[in-house]
Amino acid sequence: SSDVVPQAPEDPLFGLMAAYRKDTFDKKVDLGIGAYRDDNAKPWILPVVKKADEILRQDPDLNHEYLPIAGLPNFTAPSQRLMLGADSPALRENRVTSFQTISGTGAVHLGGLFLSKFFRTSSKPTVYVSNPTWANHNQIFTNVHLPIATYPYFSKQTKGLDFDGMLAGIKAAPQGSIILLHACAHNPTGVDPTQDQWKQIAVVMREKSHFPFFDCAYQGFASGDLAKDAWAVRYFVAQGFELCIAQSFAKNFGLYGERAGCFHFVTSPANDAATTVGRVASQLAILQRSEISNPPAYGARIAATVLNDPALFAEWEENLRTMSGRIISMRSALRSRLEELKTPGTWKHITNQIGMFSFTGLSEAQVLKLRQDAHIYMTKNGRISMAGLNTKNRMRLGLAKRRKAPV
Ligand code: PMP
Repeated sequence: SSDVVPQAPEDPLFGLMAAYRKDTFDKKVDLGIGAYRDDNAKPWILPVVKKADEILRQDPDLNHEYLPIAGLPNFTAPSQRLMLGADSPALRENRVTSFQTISGTGAVHLGGLFLSKFFRTSSKPTVYVSNPTWANHNQIFTNVHLPIATYPYFSKQTKGLDFDGMLAGIKAAPQGSIILLHACAHNPTGVDPTQDQWKQIAVVMREKSHFPFFDCAYQGFASGDLAKDAWAVRYFVAQGFELCIAQSFAKNFGLYGERAGCFHFVTSPANDAATTVGRVASQLAILQRSEISNPPAYGARIAATVLNDPALFAEWEENLRTMSGRIISMRSALRSRLEELKTPGTWKHITNQIGMFSFTGLSEAQVLKLRQDAHIYMTKNGRISMAGLNTKNRMRLGLAKRRKAPV
């Protein structure tokens, strides 16, 4: 009976949002939110998304029929090109199969489910995730019964990448493990390997026959340059790895609630592409059918309208530069303000880190004090969403200082 269902702990981010909403102070600041906000702290509908929406609404043939199990072909095809590059050897050689998913979360889940069922080892492979990682990785892989372990990632001293630790951790994982990698703009730290470091990671992964699972939630949102943010994925593909990718369109299109995403499986040139891709696709279709039957149409249609039209695509890139540019300028503003106030410690990591988040290095006690004294809300691990800062509230950090909050 339901008596045996234990009470689950509250989702920490959910609790934070509830506390923020309850706070009646007019100058409160939300640095917890994992979504883009404009300079007025409001959600931003990308102008190109508005245009695509209008185009779609004028289409007399638009209806609400089911999509195919694998999703909208004119969405998955340009999504592959976006992720892998239009000139990708894997695409030329038909080594890729792609399924439209419930945004990035659904793509991670579909990939996890597939690997849990079909990964080559006799016992369940372990998924190695970075320490720390996006909290949902642990839940998703646990739900599909894949054991989880971590590799070192963040250095508390430098507030940058613990590259030696990361490499040693990946090297120490049992032969043929699944290694989850953030393609760009690592969540929650904002710290990424350099291109040279990615090359060294690839060497170790090859030596140990590990399987790369890329999670790409911030392409174009991180640097404003779609190719640059996809560099690591494309490099691993060029090195001939068999791998998979979870691709989200939540951040880069601002389509959060529409749940547009894609799962890509890329087989290695060493395999017979035609039969491998066909077999993998046939199994993914069964998993997709039993999980969601078919994916939601509207967000994919919006993204497809933009991705397939060169003029709209160029406008999208402009919109991406607006978002990433504002975030980068908030990073500089925050760092200068902290330095101007002679806040103890060094603050270079704020501008070195990229993407939506910054790992400030604040302790849990400091985070709670900021919440109580200055009405500034962030997650307990000291992660702040740069999108929560704007030209109006960034000066509030001075208020925190005057009230002797330990920033
Ligand atoms: N992976 C990472 C690392 C993320 O940060 C996110 C977004 N918070 C996602 C996946 C998936 O998000 P969504 O399901 O909204 O696409």
